[in-house]
Amino acid sequence: MQNAINKVVIAGGGTAGWMTAALMKKILGQQVQIELVESEDIGIVGVGEATIPPIQTFNQVLGIDEKEFLRETNGTIKLAIKFENWRVDGESYFHTFGAPGANMGFCNFQHYWLRAIREGHRASLWDYDLNYLCCLEESFNKVNSQNPMFDMPYAYHFDSALYGRYLRKLAEQSGVVRTEGIIEHIQQDSENGYITGLQLKNGAQVQGDLFVDCTGIRALLLQKTLDIEYVDWSKWLPADSALAVQTERFEKTLPYTRSIAHKVGWQWRIPLTHRNGNGIVYSSRYTNDENAERILLSNLESEPVNDVKKVSFKTGRTVKQWDKNVIAVGLSSGFLEPLESTSIHLIQSAVVRLLKLFPQNGITQSVIDLYNQESEVEYETIRDFIVLHYHVNQRNDSDFWIDMRNMDIPDRLRNKIEVFSSVGNMFNDQHDIFRDASWLQVMLGQGIQPKDYHPAANVPTSEQLRETLNRVFEAKRQPLSKMLPHDEFLKRYLSS
Ligand SMILES: Cc1cc2nc3c(=O)[nH]c(=O)nc-3n(C[C@H](O)[C@H](O)[C@H](O)COP(=O)(O)OP(=O)(O)OC[C@H]3O[C@@H](n4cnc5c(N)ncnc54)[C@H](O)[C@@H]3O)c2cc1C
Repeated sequence: MQNAINKVVIAGGGTAGWMTAALMKKILGQQVQIELVESEDIGIVGVGEATIPPIQTFNQVLGIDEKEFLRETNGTIKLAIKFENWRVDGESYFHTFGAPGANMGFCNFQHYWLRAIREGHRASLWDYDLNYLCCLEESFNKVNSQNPMFDMPYAYHFDSALYGRYLRKLAEQSGVVRTEGIIEHIQQDSENGYITGLQLKNGAQVQGDLFVDCTGIRALLLQKTLDIEYVDWSKWLPADSALAVQTERFEKTLPYTRSIAHKVGWQWRIPLTHRNGNGIVYSSRYTNDENAERILLSNLESEPVNDVKKVSFKTGRTVKQWDKNVIAVGLSSGFLEPLESTSIHLIQSAVVRLLKLFPQNGITQSVIDLYNQESEVEYETIRDFIVLHYHVNQRNDSDFWIDMRNMDIPDRLRNKIEVFSSVGNMFNDQHDIFRDASWLQVMLGQGIQPKDYHPAANVPTSEQLRETLNRVFEAKRQPLSKMLPHDEFLKRYLSS
């Protein structure tokens, strides 16, 4: 057991570093000193613009005003991701943050819908999802209602560099100390190997009791110094490269991210208020940078405003995220491609987990183990969710898609697919951030049709079933009259 934690040092000031600093200071107040070291010469990875709904809670805990946040980060509303060409070329589906249908008691709405489909019902499952309906209309508004039928969970698209800057301002105002400088050497206790300080190139030394490694893909503390191994998941997720480019803003700001599959990878389009983020993710095993760049640039909807930037990565995670007195948060802890916008969320949940287990009076192995077990499951369930999109494809236009379909997938994912294919059900892992509605939409969207549904769905007569579905169908449309085109919403909301 180590001594009490009086000072936390955060190495790195990208999204991970400043999210960690801001939340830690907010929760722990003056009990712990926090110092963040970053280097403007090294800079940040500077991509990562799409999020998932829990970011709202993160901002709320920090006391951030939503309007100010959207203004400061050129942010927009995100209701879903539209997956285009993923099953076959020319088809698309949405993974929305909503939940199709309504609470039906013992068994989920999809079972009733599956029975109705067998009886000739025409509506798709998404026809019962308010998020989807708003995506189709490219609209949004805040629905003030206690009716769970009108729930419309949303996240944001934002400029991550501006978000980092905004969080830095909040963190510094609340007492976080920022130190500029390049970390050149990491000092360790000669007996137990715990990190004791960072030696900067400018001669300064930064000492602390607990160190959070937010140094991005350099992973200076956990991987480079403590030598923690990296588990390589590229056999399931072979993409190892991304090209990113920003373009002028489109005429209309969509309230969703677009993920467009191409012959050798996929492309993202993220709408912000001042510009759009675009990029392509691909594997160097299947194509080269020139070809990927050609595909990216020929599929932009507006003119580039900067040069194409390449980022290389290896999909996977560190065997442990916490070792001795070092916790890796952000890209230093692992990398999962941005298909489901999960990296910023992984930062959030890592910091929340660390704060829940905060070892104020000294680090114990049981706390480290608990932290590591939870983060392992969380990482693996996200990995499986991403693999699902690739694996269940019916594209035949390249070795890439054929290999992804034929690969041997992780057991947990295979079980999930088998359960859904046979009885239309999902089972959740406790630390899976994606709940039933997400798995359901991606499984159906990728073309998995369950053979059966739950027998409880046979209890209503056909007439009763039709009436129930019609009632939900109508109810989901009621809020639509209050929606505004997304740009109009942003204009009115941000000027109010
Ligand atoms: C192509 C791509 C697209 C992505 N899209 C999304 C997305 O849509 N949604 C999402 O949630 N996530 C996305 N991500 C992930 C997201 O970008 C990262 O999770 C996020 O930016 C956090 O990065 P970071 O803070 O860990 O690392 P970085 O931003 O790289 O920050 C590292 C910090 O460490 C500092 N540093 C490093 N070495 C030293 C040193 N020797 N001395 C001093 N300081 C040092 C740097 O200066 C910097 O401040 C994407 C990632 C990629 C690659």
